[in-house]
Amino acid sequence: LMRESYLNEKDVGFKQIKTDLRPIVIVGGHGQLGGLFHQMLTLSGYEVRILDKHDWDQAEAICDNASMVIVSVPISVTESVISRLPTLADDCILADLTSVKSKPVAAMLAAHKGPVVGLHPMFGPDVGSLAKQLVVVCHGRDSDAYQWLLEQIKIWGARLAEADAHQHDEAMQLVQAMRHFSSFVYGYNLYKENADLDVLLQFSSPIYRLELAMVGRLFAQDAELYTDIIFAQEHSHDAIADYLKRYQEALKILQAGDRDQFIATFNEVGKWFGDFAGQFQRESRNMLKSANDSRQI
Ligand code: NAD
Repeated sequence: LMRESYLNEKDVGFKQIKTDLRPIVIVGGHGQLGGLFHQMLTLSGYEVRILDKHDWDQAEAICDNASMVIVSVPISVTESVISRLPTLADDCILADLTSVKSKPVAAMLAAHKGPVVGLHPMFGPDVGSLAKQLVVVCHGRDSDAYQWLLEQIKIWGARLAEADAHQHDEAMQLVQAMRHFSSFVYGYNLYKENADLDVLLQFSSPIYRLELAMVGRLFAQDAELYTDIIFAQEHSHDAIADYLKRYQEALKILQAGDRDQFIATFNEVGKWFGDFAGQFQRESRNMLKSANDSRQI
């Protein structure tokens, strides 16, 4: 029900938190996420201008008098784009939507004297609404100046979570780089094995369908975005190498036929998960139920 009411708001517009604001510029505003923010800001009554790839000869004019500049370009060019921005007014907010945070936030602090904030929307542009979606906030400088923006994002229905940029990037190594890398390898393996997806689906339990869906949806999306997310994390190699090591350890136990050792490890991990294990079981029960209810193939 909550989602529906936000969807309706998307048709009629949102409450505008900060009135009489000078124009907002979205660098990369023709892209997926920039486009979504363009839509949300416009629906909230703000004047939005776009500075995309081919507009740099007009950058001065586009950024002139801007109250906020939001950078939403591919990760690989984010820092160079930030350093290329014209000098912004001292009270202009410089923000970004990049999936990694340390380097973009540092680049924004270096490029601009005024308010700086790093945002990481933890969702793709295909969400129907922002209701209950998470946006990570990494404070840069002068947070009072952009408090209204955070309030505005909450009006759109999203939840905010504050994080230190380095802490965010570290967590993202596991949450994103590792997750996507594992999905990538899983899909790569299905492809190499030339698995018959129709047959797999026929015999799939709901949890396996969910796993296939998670992996399959990766390959419906932009290769460059996910490659950038995986490559952008400097330490993701270590995290992935550690994961591979554990995979091999577990394989050894399996190959040795050491059932007792496997059970002991299983229980050790279960104990470590503690109360979360039960919580996850309850939560996934609902996910599995709705995954099963909404199957299309
Ligand atoms: P996208 O490729 O759809 O959009 C990028 C936009 O930037 C395009 O319009 C492109 O023309 C423009 N661009 C490229 N180089 C430019 C340059 N030098 N100057 C100005 N504009 C330039 O990508 P996206 O998916 O919208 O991702 C944008 C940012 O959002 C990335 O930093 C990404 O990490 C972040 N993000 C994306 C998602 C997602 O699911 N798509 C989720 C969270 C965060």
